[in-house]
Amino acid sequence: MSDKENMSAEPISTRETLNLVARSLRFVWPYWPRILIQLILSFIGIAMILFLPWPLKILIDYVIMGLPVGYSPTPFPPYIQPFVDLLHGMTPLEIVWVVIAVSCLGIVLIGSFGNGSSRDTADGNLAQGLDTATQSENRANEASSRVSGLLGLFEYRFQLKTTHRFNHRLRSLVFQRLLALPMNRFSDESVGDAVYRVMYDTPAISKVCYDILVVPLSNIFLIAVVIWTMQYSYASVPSLVLLAWLAVPMLLISSLLMTGATRRRSLASRKAGANTTATAEEGLGNIRAVQSLGANDRQRDEFKRDSNESFSRYRSFVWMNVILVGLQAAIACGLILYVFFDIAEAIIGGRMSPGDAGPLYVFFGQLLLSTLALGALWFKLQDNLVGMRRVFQIIDQQADHERHGKETLETVREGLKIDQVSYTYPDGTPVLDSVSLDARVGEMIALVGTTGSGKTTLSYLIPAFIQPTAGRVLLDGIDTRQLSVGNLRGLVSFVFQEPAIFNDTVANNIRLGNSDASDADLTSAAASAGALSFIRDLPEGFDTLLGRNGDTLSVGQKQRLAIARGLVSQSPVLVLDEPTAALDPETENALVQALQVEREKRILIVIAHRLSTIRMADRICVVDDGRIVESGRHEELMQNPSGAYRRFVELQLG
Ligand code: ADP
Repeated sequence: MSDKENMSAEPISTRETLNLVARSLRFVWPYWPRILIQLILSFIGIAMILFLPWPLKILIDYVIMGLPVGYSPTPFPPYIQPFVDLLHGMTPLEIVWVVIAVSCLGIVLIGSFGNGSSRDTADGNLAQGLDTATQSENRANEASSRVSGLLGLFEYRFQLKTTHRFNHRLRSLVFQRLLALPMNRFSDESVGDAVYRVMYDTPAISKVCYDILVVPLSNIFLIAVVIWTMQYSYASVPSLVLLAWLAVPMLLISSLLMTGATRRRSLASRKAGANTTATAEEGLGNIRAVQSLGANDRQRDEFKRDSNESFSRYRSFVWMNVILVGLQAAIACGLILYVFFDIAEAIIGGRMSPGDAGPLYVFFGQLLLSTLALGALWFKLQDNLVGMRRVFQIIDQQADHERHGKETLETVREGLKIDQVSYTYPDGTPVLDSVSLDARVGEMIALVGTTGSGKTTLSYLIPAFIQPTAGRVLLDGIDTRQLSVGNLRGLVSFVFQEPAIFNDTVANNIRLGNSDASDADLTSAAASAGALSFIRDLPEGFDTLLGRNGDTLSVGQKQRLAIARGLVSQSPVLVLDEPTAALDPETENALVQALQVEREKRILIVIAHRLSTIRMADRICVVDDGRIVESGRHEELMQNPSGAYRRFVELQLG
């Protein structure tokens, strides 16, 4: 499957990282007020955390140790001094009451606190496996807050809503782009990969946004306040201040070192996940063929192999994370042990009071957590940017309407001209070579030739499903590329070889060809296409709901519906790709009669194999190896004993 090789497997360079970050930011920019509120909430949470340990010091020093209120060998930072001044003249019991009141308020407002996602967190609550797919779905419903309590609850809910909005907007955009992409895009990469991009790569947007805007700013703010407080209040213990300064670069460097290896593993994991989805999609999409050909075992083995690969890639990614976290934990433990001895020594030496141990532990703990969060940022960002790159690849592809101009043509009065057109598929297969063809309104052209000669490709050029590599397609002298896609597709109706049936009523399925068609138009089109008798036999006639893919209908019935859809459209050009392939001779005759009437008001291009259809064409074009080798009426072409058409007819007649 070509999409398996086609994944974005190359690692992201720093330059591309910055590019992707800039694009992601531009995408979320309309939501800047929400992001600002998110940032403010995060700052408030941090301010609360930094305030909370001080009442503990007050309790230990002025209540338990009985030191005079206000006395401290280390100065209180200015943001806590007014609270201490408030306590002057109070008895130890009154101080206890004040601290209890403050603590109660703290519990209601922020409950407990942790770092980043370690407090109030929630996700989609889906059963999560070790695969990227379920993890991404959870990520699309994820929110967190550094604190809990009322503030945490509010922040969590606010963030969840923002996350949903980002994801919804991006998913809708990618889906819309996918629908507008040229048709051959989906022959190159499977639908499974496209679904993966829409569902599992898009949630990266919210992570990228928070990782760039909220996480660094709030963590840098916290680190700055902690280091400043250490300088201000604990300058008398220089080793502690130095340690606070050193902890930051040490932890940052350790995690940055691991970034490259983690990124490669993440890419491989995503790629393997997408392969698994593509294999499942391929197997299920072709379930009839798989079962009838007895290919179940082969499909199962292929899926098993891909699924195994996906898990093993993910395990390798998780292992890298475990090593990273282990390394950082070792550094953190070493620091905390050192801090413990340093604080004990300073308290025994009288350079600080016993109450200082509380704030210092909280500060160092927060310092470590915040630095780790910052260190993990680069690699988390890279991981999420892999998803964003796959999303932007879709957004960047030129959609059909972007290749076309804006001109409109009301109807086709003269004719269609295919002028020296060549076409090569994106994979390099040359199919058409300088093909020219003229068709006037009122004419029926039959394209005949062996399978693979290029008939379908040629017919795809007319509604611009594909763009010629060289040459032009003109309607009334106007290059179809100058016409808007909507206008062109309105002028050219195309009935595909494999009819598409939607989960809707019979009437609405036919009306897709012309939403203004009256009931009488529907009945007449259905009758011409030989569909009327079976529609009348359906439980509710035209109002019968057809299931997904029209599974309740036979292939021939679906084809008749698709033909009726083409006939009911008022398009001046009607292209039918092998319309009679699945019809019995009687229905085919009826269709041939109907086509006789149709061609009077339109240009009719029919790819056909059956002689009865071909014979009535005004011109028969024999396509061979990407070129039109013969053209003319049936009788004319039959005159040439060594001609390709005559050979074709003789083969047909046995
Ligand atoms: P016909 O309709 O005459 O049977 P087609 O136009 O479908 O022929 O195909 C012509 C040639 O183009 C075939 O060799 C086929 O393999 C090739 N082809 C068709 N679709 C693609 C594609 N998406 N990518 C590459 N080659 C293609």
